Amino acid sequence: MKTCSMCHKQIEKPDDNFSSGHGIDIEGNIFCYPCCAIKDKATMRKNGSITLYLTKDKDGTWSLTNFPASLSFKPTVIRGRHNWGIKRYDCWFIFEGFIWWGVKYGDNSDVAYCKKTKQKSRYSLSGSFIERC
Ligand SMILES: [Zn+2]
Repeated sequence: MKTCSMCHKQIEKPDDNFSSGHGIDIEGNIFCYPCCAIKDKATMRKNGSITLYLTKDKDGTWSLTNFPASLSFKPTVIRGRHNWGIKRYDCWFIFEGFIWWGVKYGDNSDVAYCKKTKQKSRYSLSGSFIERC
C-alpha cells in the first residue's frame, strides 16, 4: 500500500479500478487526494497561478477542479471565439477573497490556465454561463 508523503497516511486504492487514489508530483512524491487539495491551494497562494481542469457537469454547470477533484470551484464561464476559430472559455472564480481568472482553449482539452487577479471580490460569482458566439 502506498503512503502519502505529506500526511503519511496509507492510501487505499479506490474500488472503481481506474483511479489510483493518489496524485504524484514532478519529483515522484505521492499524495493522497486531500493533500493534493492542500498542496494545490498552497501553490495558488505562493504562485498566484495554477493549472486546473474546466469541465461541464451532466446538469450543465461548470466545475473547475484539480486532478483528483479534491479541490473544486464553481466558476462563471463565458464562451467566446478565439482568433483562429477555436472556442475559448474564460472563467472566473473566487479563492480566499480574490477573483481568479482562467482560460481554456478548444473543446479537446479541459486544461485551464488560471491566474489570480488583483481584484478583491465583494460578490460571489457562482456557476453562471454566458454564451457569446
Ligand atoms: Zn495525505
